[in-house]
Amino acid sequence: MLADQYGRQVKDLRISVTDRCNYRCFYCKPVDAFGQHYRSGIMSYEEIIRLSQIFVVEFGVEKIRLTGGEPLLRREIDLLVTEIAQIPGLQDLAMTTNAHLLPSKAHKLKEAGLDRLTISLDSLRPERFAEITRSDSLDRVLEGIDTAAKAGFAPLKINVVVIRGVNDDEIVAFGKFARETGHIVRFIEFMPLDEDKQWNRERVVSQAEIIEALEELGPLKSVERSYSSETANKYRYADGKGEIGIIASVTASFCGQCSRVRLTADGKLRTCLFSDNEHDVLSLMRQGASDEEVMNFIREAVFRKESGHRINMPDYVYPDRSMSLIGG
Ligand code: SAM
Repeated sequence: MLADQYGRQVKDLRISVTDRCNYRCFYCKPVDAFGQHYRSGIMSYEEIIRLSQIFVVEFGVEKIRLTGGEPLLRREIDLLVTEIAQIPGLQDLAMTTNAHLLPSKAHKLKEAGLDRLTISLDSLRPERFAEITRSDSLDRVLEGIDTAAKAGFAPLKINVVVIRGVNDDEIVAFGKFARETGHIVRFIEFMPLDEDKQWNRERVVSQAEIIEALEELGPLKSVERSYSSETANKYRYADGKGEIGIIASVTASFCGQCSRVRLTADGKLRTCLFSDNEHDVLSLMRQGASDEEVMNFIREAVFRKESGHRINMPDYVYPDRSMSLIGG
């Protein structure tokens, strides 16, 4: 068991498998960054598997999510999925992706043992999609979503970061999308994790505003969480059609229930998305540390996990890395 000083148990590990991304979402990554920052020190598959085994077998972690950067850019990612999926005790293996490469990879991922896919999609309008991601490829993403559904990833989760003045006029369209497709649409409040530091409080569209907009399509009923540390507040339209999630990290944070830790692509353990310090597990492993030594290092880092993020405090300081480098 792995727990922090406040008694929260770690059950959920997010692993960034690459810092590279084929999109340049303006709120995440600046246009000139091409993911070169940490490539020399990126974790190998062997290192990722060793750490995954430690977290699952020794510490009882139940869920692993592969993310990035864009995880599908990592060569033969399905081989990594196959290995992690076989770790005894792992209950859920998921991936977050922008879906650009899913048309050719979704079936392979399913066969490799991936349980779930979460897909990021911030606009259903081609021009706006291109402006946000700096890639004119909405069709490709929609094709990726369809292929994933056909490959058996159902229900799919679609993540939408809502930013005032950018895509908040599409909340209702996404509500319709959830009702028509059966995919679970999850709205994420814009967080101060963007590399260009464009975030400010006025640009955050709150959970309350999102619900108000969605109710244009009919009343929403709250759905009970499947487990206490779930990030999204869940809703369903009263007529039963369309499931919605809202990740209200800014206006209704859920740190008290947090069960997550993260590994960056260059092998640093982060105990909070907003941590201002990291724990270099990879260097320790490369110095020849035994599993026991690695475990003690992780235990100590997790024990000191932050009680909560400080977004709403006057002294909030941006983390050194953007979401794409931390692993969203
Ligand atoms: N490339 C993959 C993708 O696009 O899903 C995985 C990595 S991406 C960093 C993971 C998620 O973080 C995406 O859903 C993205 O929209 C979200 N994200 C990035 N920056 C964010 C921010 N400042 N606030 C809220 N969500 C953010």
